Amino acid sequence: MGQAEDTTKITIPRGIVFVVSAPSGAGKRTVLERVFAQDARLGLSVSATTRPPRTGEVHGKDYYFLDRDTFARRVQAGDFVEWAEVHGNAYGTLREELDRLLASGKDTVLELDVQGMRNVKRIGLDAVTIFIMAPSMEELKRRLRARGTDSAEVVDLRLANARAEIAARGEFDYVIVNDRLEDAAADLAAILRAERCRARRQPMEDEWTHMEDR
Ligand code: ADP
Ligand code: 5GP
Repeated sequence: MGQAEDTTKITIPRGIVFVVSAPSGAGKRTVLERVFAQDARLGLSVSATTRPPRTGEVHGKDYYFLDRDTFARRVQAGDFVEWAEVHGNAYGTLREELDRLLASGKDTVLELDVQGMRNVKRIGLDAVTIFIMAPSMEELKRRLRARGTDSAEVVDLRLANARAEIAARGEFDYVIVNDRLEDAAADLAAILRAERCRARRQPMEDEWTHMEDR
């Protein structure tokens, strides 16, 4: 017989945090939508932003759209896990949003820019980081323009920022080239699947734990 163990101890399942970054227009939203449609264990953390809503975007679903003053007040109040200025607007991850998703046991996707990814690592959050990129700069330009949601000036700013973001891809755990959409979605699903199988993420107190005692 082994030592008496405290079998009342239970491991609360806590979800995995996945940070997904991409230069604007690389297809991050499109790839994520595909994967979300087939993965019920995945939750998306809705960020707050000062960017005005695009046509069709819904408050609370795509973003929490805040004015500058409200955003600044919430920064002061410590409501954000991380926040950054991206393409001329402020974006941030709300602490209550992330906590709610993780406590519900969902694996949670944070859509962050590269600064956001770095901040998440700096504060010591255990996160798997994934970078999605278009196959070429030409294709990135084409997609950004074809999307038709941004003015020419906004497109130019986003393209200028893309170079620096792509240069930082080596800081991520995984890189996905979004050439064919089906392949990119399959790559992302495979990464999620493999990360869930990591030994360190398995419950250590289960029916196999005291097998040698029986
Ligand atoms: P992001 O979220 O990275 O800014 P989107 O998901 O909005 O990018 O995609 C930008 C544009 O590129 C959209 O019009 C989308 O339909 C298109 N797109 C996304 N992935 C692909 C792909 N693999 N091949 C061709 N077009 C794509
Ligand atoms: P968009 O305006 O196209 O929706 O997003 C622009 C950029 O902001 C994207 O690179 C996106 O990943 C980033 N972003 C969105 N939400 C957050 C956030 O909460 N924090 C940070 N750091 N970046 C974000």
